Amino acid sequence: MTYNAALTVKKNDQVGRYAVASRDLKAGELILTDSPFAYGPKSDSCPLCLGCSVPVDCSNLCSKCSWPVCNSECKFLSVHSENECEVFASAKVKFQPLEDPTDVCLQYECITPLRVLLAKEKDPRRWEEEVEMMETHNELRRTKPIWYFNQVNIVDYLRGPCKLNRFSEDLIHSVCGMLDVNSFEARASSGYLIRCLYPKLAVMSHDCVSNIHHTIDSNDLKVAVKAAINIPENGELFCSYTYSLWPTLIRREFLIESKYFECKCNRCQDKTELGTHLGTLKCSKCDNGVLLSTDPLSFTCEWKCTHCEFKTSAMSVKKVYDIVQREIDSVEMITGAEGIECREAIYRKYRSVFHPKSAYMTIIRTALAQLYGRAEGYTIHELPDLLQERKVELCKQLLDVLDVIEPGLTRIRGITLYELHAPLINLARNQYSSGVINKDEFRKKMEEASDILRQSVEILKNELPNSNEGQLGLVAQESYDTLKENFELLIETA
Ligand SMILES: [Zn+2]
Ligand SMILES: [Zn+2]
Ligand SMILES: [Zn+2]
Ligand SMILES: [Zn+2]
Repeated sequence: MTYNAALTVKKNDQVGRYAVASRDLKAGELILTDSPFAYGPKSDSCPLCLGCSVPVDCSNLCSKCSWPVCNSECKFLSVHSENECEVFASAKVKFQPLEDPTDVCLQYECITPLRVLLAKEKDPRRWEEEVEMMETHNELRRTKPIWYFNQVNIVDYLRGPCKLNRFSEDLIHSVCGMLDVNSFEARASSGYLIRCLYPKLAVMSHDCVSNIHHTIDSNDLKVAVKAAINIPENGELFCSYTYSLWPTLIRREFLIESKYFECKCNRCQDKTELGTHLGTLKCSKCDNGVLLSTDPLSFTCEWKCTHCEFKTSAMSVKKVYDIVQREIDSVEMITGAEGIECREAIYRKYRSVFHPKSAYMTIIRTALAQLYGRAEGYTIHELPDLLQERKVELCKQLLDVLDVIEPGLTRIRGITLYELHAPLINLARNQYSSGVINKDEFRKKMEEASDILRQSVEILKNELPNSNEGQLGLVAQESYDTLKENFELLIETA
């Protein structure tokens, strides 16, 4: 099966379907576009408008089916009116309002599976050609609590009160599996996160280092998949179903629990995560040693010091990860100056616990790199040289890790390069004006900064203008054009 000239789908008894490049692909090249077969609320969702997906307080109900919408316009959006609205209205199943509309609403569990089932009836050909063969991991899921949860909240609900017994129990469970295993998160135009089922994107296997990059347009939810790096003909295409900055123990646990497979990719198998040391702890018993897993694919093995006899267990390591993750989560919403201060405090606290490149130090860096230069009292022109240097250091350390685990033209690289260029310019200017560097050195530093900004523009121009990254891309382009235009003047008059 060929989706377009860039990709060929292959099949293998062990791993199922996978995709390879049908020719040499250049970084940035479009591989495919796809529209969702169906989309809707994620699992564990609070009540959303069934038209536009914005969270609602449930005071406005659709006049036809009595389920939540924001207003009479949203009631007519086809995603609702041509899907569950008809089903709920004709079966007279009522929505039960929650006391707290921000709570998880179990009645919403059925919405997205129902939309997939109805899409199957509307487009049986696409279902047969692209969707039916999607991975469900039903064998394994059957043994987990999720199976019973789905039986009660989705299968029995749809076949009972919603009078949809034309869909078999097996089929409904399979649809739930497809969604669990294959769906991608997207931001609806309301800004709220939903899930989408993209049959063509789902063909690609997972790897903890992806070589493709996808963007989803929040207006029409179309996805565009591009090569993140150069991929040779017949090279396998990989996307990642997990957060790339997490350490192996956490990524693998997430993939087993939510995607039902055990990742054994090169990164997962490597003690140092390809040299990044994202999972590595410093030894607490000696000065120079670090703790590494003796068997990276195990959740129970020993972790040993590289220098002394000290050892601990994978479980204890995971406990440390959980503690710092909780601290990071607790400051997630804090922005501005306070946001910088509390993250720097966590950074200092754990500097002696983790390898400098570890996941959690890196996650804190990602936030700090963007806060320095933006937060009140820390805007880019207010920052003293010491903090300009701090911002440079944060960005460079982050880029070192990204080079390995998010290689190529990825969003986070584009953003980080953008963050890096401004302090480089400011530092160069200050050093020149105080006589620390001469004009030639100044010119060279300015050229370097300008080139970094250019790289950031190259990456971020791939983002859609209606996304935050796309907006940043436009700002970056403008700064780059201004810098280019006035470059000589800047050097001469500095
Ligand atoms: Zn709405
Ligand atoms: Zn309705
Ligand atoms: Zn992996
Ligand atoms: Zn040691």
